[in-house]
Amino acid sequence: MAPTPPPPSPLKPAPAQPTTAQPQRISLEQIDIKVLDRNRIRELFKAGRLPTADQIVEEVLTRAVHSGANDVHIEPIEGELQIRVGHEGILKRMVSLPPDMNDSIVSVLKTKATLNQFEKKKPQEGRYSAVYGTDAFDFRVNIIPVLQGERCLVRLLHKSSRISSLDELGFHEDSTAQLKSLLRNPRGLFLVTGPSGSGKTTTVYAATNHVHSPEKCVITVEDPVEYRLPFSSQINLPSDKSFNFVDALRAILRQNPNVIMVGEIRDAETGIVAAEAAITGNLVLSTMLADDAIGAIHRLFNLGIPPYWLSSTLIGIVHQLLIRKICANCREEYPLSKEELAVLGAPNKEEELRLFRGRGCAACGGTGYKGRVAICEILTISHTMRDLIFQKASLLQLREEAGNVGLQNIRQDAIRKVLQGVTSVQEVVRVLG
Ligand SMILES: [Zn+2]
Repeated sequence: MAPTPPPPSPLKPAPAQPTTAQPQRISLEQIDIKVLDRNRIRELFKAGRLPTADQIVEEVLTRAVHSGANDVHIEPIEGELQIRVGHEGILKRMVSLPPDMNDSIVSVLKTKATLNQFEKKKPQEGRYSAVYGTDAFDFRVNIIPVLQGERCLVRLLHKSSRISSLDELGFHEDSTAQLKSLLRNPRGLFLVTGPSGSGKTTTVYAATNHVHSPEKCVITVEDPVEYRLPFSSQINLPSDKSFNFVDALRAILRQNPNVIMVGEIRDAETGIVAAEAAITGNLVLSTMLADDAIGAIHRLFNLGIPPYWLSSTLIGIVHQLLIRKICANCREEYPLSKEELAVLGAPNKEEELRLFRGRGCAACGGTGYKGRVAICEILTISHTMRDLIFQKASLLQLREEAGNVGLQNIRQDAIRKVLQGVTSVQEVVRVLG
């Protein structure tokens, strides 16, 4: 029997329709030009007999959220508007629409992210939040002008209400211990580096969470605030850009902090003020884009941070990447081939080495992988390294010294995860080459 709605109360007006009601789902397949004739779809769309751009965007994002995607690429290419979803770095086609739908779809996303509708010649970036089911998501919308129109990337960020602890980052126990020892420094500059989407933010939050105590004043400046740190004061950079990282940092310094977390060092000015804050006795934690831990030092040089500042403030760099984990449901053991042995750097074992891989099952969508884990290299700045930084040493000299102090590089960490059966050799090759 169908549930009957409760009778309206005689004292109160009938309740309004809840505004959070999910819109009616539509079928994307009915408008896919790989399935149906594109001219027919175009005619129906123009006649208003197909879902609106609003409904299409909603359906695309709902499917992306439900499948656990990390991003959605909406790109006008020759003869079609291709929509693909990215799962852990691998793109998969969702639907292909007639190319003239590009304008209306981009327009819907611009409205959501409060971007300029009329600006079609310059890149734009915005964000908005939405709730799907019981989960809150942050959507980062990035639009660039391309030959065929505007290309849109929507990054989906699941707003977890909980901050990971250092032990939950998935690092090897040696790495976690090294990280904890680094963070015992009461002052200095601590950086988490990696490409975008490599989990840097999770790590920098875990580190800030780890160093706080009731005796310390912790202030953060972020763009935007991604997690709430209950013990700290957090500054959310305004979307109207009325003040920036540098303005916020200078103001924070006047508040007598002990620990400052800066969302990201994106430019020279932020880098310089962050180093300045570390020199004046604060522990400054931040993230930065870089190819590896040693490369990050040179990136800081290139940003114009004086080497003598860096040599006296930099305490350590965690460089990380995310790697897919073998699906626990279809994990199988197999003997290693010669090529794979070469990738592993041929561990000196006589007996046949057996490793793991995912066969592919329903639980992992046939990919053999489910979930991701961080691989990392952690550089603790030694005395010699400090000296080398002071002299603005070459990458080669810095790498040599890192080798001398036993830097476990990211590839070695990845191989450790292969030998533990967490990931596969193929995945290491895909991520690290
Ligand atoms: Zn599986």
